[in-house]
Amino acid sequence: MAPLTRRASPPPSSPTAVTAPVQQAYARYGRQAGQWTAQYLAKGGEVFCGAGCYFCCDMPIRVSLAEALITAQALTPEQARAFEKHARAVGQNARTARDEDEFVQRHRIEISFCPLLDRETGACSQYDARPTRCRDTFSAFPAHFCACGTWENMTRREQAEYRREVARTPGTDGEVHFIAPLEHLSEPVWAAASKAMRKAWGLEVWGDFWTLTTLARDPQFMAKVQAGDGRGAWSQAKSRGLAHAVTLEIG
Ligand code: SF4
Repeated sequence: MAPLTRRASPPPSSPTAVTAPVQQAYARYGRQAGQWTAQYLAKGGEVFCGAGCYFCCDMPIRVSLAEALITAQALTPEQARAFEKHARAVGQNARTARDEDEFVQRHRIEISFCPLLDRETGACSQYDARPTRCRDTFSAFPAHFCACGTWENMTRREQAEYRREVARTPGTDGEVHFIAPLEHLSEPVWAAASKAMRKAWGLEVWGDFWTLTTLARDPQFMAKVQAGDGRGAWSQAKSRGLAHAVTLEIG
């Protein structure tokens, strides 16, 4: 017999309409990545990431607004202020960097670590609300190889040896030391975010993690997004000094 009542779906304008599918996709990813990793370790593979390791937390991070909403809801007021400061530094970098390489390098050296990193313990202070990129980045080499400047400071000989070592390490894509299948397994999370945003808002918003998380806490920006008004959302971001093509994509 069919149930008399069904659990109502959240209304399209509710943040839950976009965050719930992403949360479900995070949970699925966690299970699948755990299974894959167990098999990889059983065959002798190595994963060097773990609690207290944070060398990749100074990288630029791209997210969907659906993911940013999850982080935004978890932030303390102090963390939100630190996010806005970080977002402004990212925007300044985007306005002045000559190319992507310079953007990434300056991000790592000058803007430096994510405000959610607890520098004393090396832990993420909002682990459950971290975005996809922080969930699917795993290293098959020791942390030293993820640190800013390691590659640049290698001699040519050391770089050649690194390439050879990567090529013979299972789980990598043969070019860099990150574990490729664990990254590929997260593709459904991106797809879930894309589909949920399109369905709820009729548009998608992607961009820099700290910029989008700051904008996700701006009621005027979110009202425009929820109304499907991409131009209005861009204008609101611009009025906050947070609109730049590198850090905010609405469409
Ligand atoms: S959200 Fe957490 S895991 Fe991701 S960069 Fe920030 S501190 Fe690191």
